[in-house]
Amino acid sequence: MSHYWSPLVHRLTPYTPGEQPKLSNLVKLNTNENPYPPSPRAVAAMQREIGNDGAALRLYPDPNADLLKHAVAEHFAEFALTPDHVFVGNGSDEVLAHAFLALLKHEQPILLPDITYSFYPVYCGLYGIDSVTIPVDERFAIRVDDYARENGGIVIANPNAPTGHLLPLDAIERLAAANRQSVVLVDEAYVDFGGETAIGLVCRLPNLLVVRTLSKSHALAGLRVGYAVGDPALIEALERIKNSFNSYPLDRVAIAGAAAALADREYLEKTRRAVMRSRTALVGDLQGLGFDVLPSAANFIFTRHAQRDAAELAAQLRQRSVIVRHFKLPRIDQYLRITIGNDAQCERLVATLKEILQP
Ligand SMILES: *Cc1c(COP(=O)(O)O)cnc(C)c1O
Repeated sequence: MSHYWSPLVHRLTPYTPGEQPKLSNLVKLNTNENPYPPSPRAVAAMQREIGNDGAALRLYPDPNADLLKHAVAEHFAEFALTPDHVFVGNGSDEVLAHAFLALLKHEQPILLPDITYSFYPVYCGLYGIDSVTIPVDERFAIRVDDYARENGGIVIANPNAPTGHLLPLDAIERLAAANRQSVVLVDEAYVDFGGETAIGLVCRLPNLLVVRTLSKSHALAGLRVGYAVGDPALIEALERIKNSFNSYPLDRVAIAGAAAALADREYLEKTRRAVMRSRTALVGDLQGLGFDVLPSAANFIFTRHAQRDAAELAAQLRQRSVIVRHFKLPRIDQYLRITIGNDAQCERLVATLKEILQP
């Protein structure tokens, strides 16, 4: 605390990211990173961009990141998007922040599930946006009919975090169609691991904004690239905020790498299938150890043990160099969120849990 701080800073409750420990030899299953490296074509494109002497980095990047916007439109060619439907930012966290300020700050409060990505309430605090939380059901499913009330916007992660719960596409369509007076933002950070994207609906629903990231399914969390797809009027609002904040949020390396990653569909297909296969195997193993595992369409699972306290389990795993995420929050403090690692990491997790659980 300091009297130099503005009143706003005094009031803020910032987001707490999962830890990024500096130790090696950890089984790191706490922040939903991809266990596989990014597409080799993305790596080559980034190396090409830097070149031998890095001379290209003397120059500012393209402030509009046209190459990347085209790559996003091309990635979803079946939906006939144009670059005008696309906004890009420095991680989807930045895209979300701009969306909250540009599209979700109105007279009426926005609606959020009570259990969801904990960054959303942080943006509300930063920008002074009122929110109302709508409880998910006892199995942590979102019921879209509960959102039938006046609102200044609706934000849903699909699949939801940290539960992994997936809403079918027709539920998203129903939600957006029933709320045409406000923006319905769907955060699809995990959709490549088992869901169907709502991007095909944006041409029919001018109030629908779909936000995505290259951090999870494209294995580029370290590059910081996210994007939004929506009606050009929504995108223009995001551009106005961005150009009042930082004209060059994406650097040259990020633009080149992200565009190449999106173009490499085959690699995405191969790695997401591998993650989904590991998820199926891990769920079976954990059930065998007495865990209740919620159905997940994401690259993580949300699970509780019938007898053991979740915080204690997380601490015991940590002592053995396996890191998972535990949220000390109402309703979910007996659950662990565990990222799907590669098969060796999943095996280490299961073997370590066996050791902890043995009587
Ligand atoms: C990981 C995650 C993000 C943030 O992604 P970045 O692009 O790395 O900023 C956004 N939303 C949800 C639900 C996430 O889990």
